[in-house]
Amino acid sequence: MGLNTASVPNGGESCSQRVGTAHILKCGKKEMKLIMFGPPGSGKGTYASRLGSRLEIASVSTGDLFREAKKQGTELGRRVADFLNKGELVPDEITIEVLKERISRPDCKKGFILDGYPRTLEQAWALDKIARIDAIILLIVPEWIIIERLSNRRVCRSCGAIYNLKYLKPKREGVCDKCGGELYQREDDAPQVIKERLKIYERQTQPLIDFYKVKVPFVNAECNEIDMPPEVMVESIMQKLRKLNLI
Ligand SMILES: [Zn+2]
Repeated sequence: MGLNTASVPNGGESCSQRVGTAHILKCGKKEMKLIMFGPPGSGKGTYASRLGSRLEIASVSTGDLFREAKKQGTELGRRVADFLNKGELVPDEITIEVLKERISRPDCKKGFILDGYPRTLEQAWALDKIARIDAIILLIVPEWIIIERLSNRRVCRSCGAIYNLKYLKPKREGVCDKCGGELYQREDDAPQVIKERLKIYERQTQPLIDFYKVKVPFVNAECNEIDMPPEVMVESIMQKLRKLNLI
């Protein structure tokens, strides 16, 4: 796994000169604009939202943004909906517009943490024009943990609740605790498919890591235990951000 070994930049010491340029807000707090990268099944969404609350910044996931834009029914939202309804990817120029609108809202005043964006170098360049990123958080989770987690995942057909046969078992086998619906395994949670998804993630992410590692400090957050509680992971990220003098 490329991202788990030599190809990740080191913990940030070499980039610490950037700390001197950290943007201090009027309230005396440092502005904090972060990007979180992590493989599927790494718990990225969970960590991003917990870290967002700890840092009092907004956690912004492009998946949620699209769903929200669709609901709002604005001009931009309708354009997003057109692509989503056809099952097509939302083009970069529309995604960046949606993101630009999102990060101009009051809850992003102190900063934000992006989850799921950028995915391509083109998106990273576009982002570069609208925001200056302060640090990258790179989740490093061994393949076996991801496979163990995702292949034991079961989803409720009726309400979408998520279970794990080892770590978050339903009370009755195959039945949702919340609504009594049937639990099933998503096709892309089969081990062979997970391996393929991880390869795609690496292929997509390595160029982004190379792009950012010469620009901003990295916080490498390693998860080496399958049952590591999210708060432990978040605390370790907080400590590393402190060490880099970013908070
Ligand atoms: Zn259910």
